[in-house]
Amino acid sequence: MIQFAGHSTAFDRALSLMPGGVNSPVRSFAAVGGAPVFIERAEGAWLESVDGRQLIDLVGSWGAAILGHGHPAVRDAIRAQSENTVSIGLASPRESDLAEEIIARVPSVQRVRFVNSGTEAVMSALRLARHVTGRRRIVRFEGGYHGHADALLSGAGSGVSTLGLDGEEYDATSDVTILPYNDIDAVKRVFDRIGAEIAGVILEPISGNMGVVPGDHPWLRALRNLTRRSGSVLIFDEVMTGFRVADGGAQSLLGVHADLTTLGKVIGGGLPVGAFGGSADLMDQIAPAGPVYQAGTMSGNPLTMAAGLAALRALDESAYAALERAGKRLQAGLEQAIQDSGFTACVQRQGSMLTLFPGLARVQSFSDANLVNRRQFSRFFHAMLRRGVHLPPSPHEAWFVSLAHDDEIIDAIVDAAAASLRELRDLSTKETTS
Ligand SMILES: *Cc1c(COP(=O)(O)O)cnc(C)c1O
Repeated sequence: MIQFAGHSTAFDRALSLMPGGVNSPVRSFAAVGGAPVFIERAEGAWLESVDGRQLIDLVGSWGAAILGHGHPAVRDAIRAQSENTVSIGLASPRESDLAEEIIARVPSVQRVRFVNSGTEAVMSALRLARHVTGRRRIVRFEGGYHGHADALLSGAGSGVSTLGLDGEEYDATSDVTILPYNDIDAVKRVFDRIGAEIAGVILEPISGNMGVVPGDHPWLRALRNLTRRSGSVLIFDEVMTGFRVADGGAQSLLGVHADLTTLGKVIGGGLPVGAFGGSADLMDQIAPAGPVYQAGTMSGNPLTMAAGLAALRALDESAYAALERAGKRLQAGLEQAIQDSGFTACVQRQGSMLTLFPGLARVQSFSDANLVNRRQFSRFFHAMLRRGVHLPPSPHEAWFVSLAHDDEIIDAIVDAAAASLRELRDLSTKETTS
């Protein structure tokens, strides 16, 4: 592994205390080399490192920070709620506040259960799908990431693919069928053969965890029709896309509705959260309304509920219009920089999430995404970091723009990218001529 930067004191300390020095592998710089930047403060679109560097943030708490860091409405909500309750482990009206907001805005959700992470939301949704169908088999897609439950890691995107792990050793069950993303024929073949065994199909309707790869509309419609016909549960994992790509998530944007939806990230206003929801019929199978057990000591805790509600209330029509404008400006700037540098790369975007894939012209599936030039990405990542822009340290992640990324900040990112791409081009010219 190429070391780009010396280990920092903060990283050395963390390394001696936590595996790899981090509490989630996607935070490590394992894929790009060097020591992660340790952050002391975050405000708007900016991060401040422990050594006082100001960096433009495109990680955005992996999508949660859609309003920008430390948004006053969210801060105030957390502060005010903390005066009343922090954690009670009992019912509070704050749960209904956020539930009402979500149910009003996500087309296919009539009832919701809050949990503490996206991983939990997906595990619970799968259990529910298996219960209501009386079947075991789950269909999922290469490059999708649905949390770190055993059965869902094989062929997963996000940190699993970033670190070059295939997740196979964790594939604790043979009840999971993994198909290529955006491949209608593969899905049809499986449903022809074993449709009656399939409890649920889970997917990111717009993938963010192999980088941004939108699901093709005909493929999504085929999934909707096939699951309906075979009595399987269609599960949209919108932990990333929910309230990110549009009000109500990918399903309101695409007009294809799921039976169950998992949420997370944005709906917690930056605090730990997950949720799953669907029709009242389905959701009322969950305990104590029904027999499917699902529980959590901290679930629906009032601080998270208050922060989430403040965030969702700030996400009105004009906010989504502004996010779209910012994403579009960034994409256009990056594409111009790519063209000017003569570098091969493509930019794929949905709203305020976007990925630049070095070495590729178009990405529609995980096998495409895996052809990304990882070495060039690592160089690009560090070239950007030197210029004060913190990207997600992986070629298989989305970059997240927030409402705090104004034109000036977007243009600064584009300028940094143009200079970084020129640097990369000069480097590779030198390498091929020497
Ligand atoms: C982030 C993510 C998860 C996992 O959520 P955690 O809160 O990290 O457990 C699941 N699915 C998708 C699509 C995600 O982006």
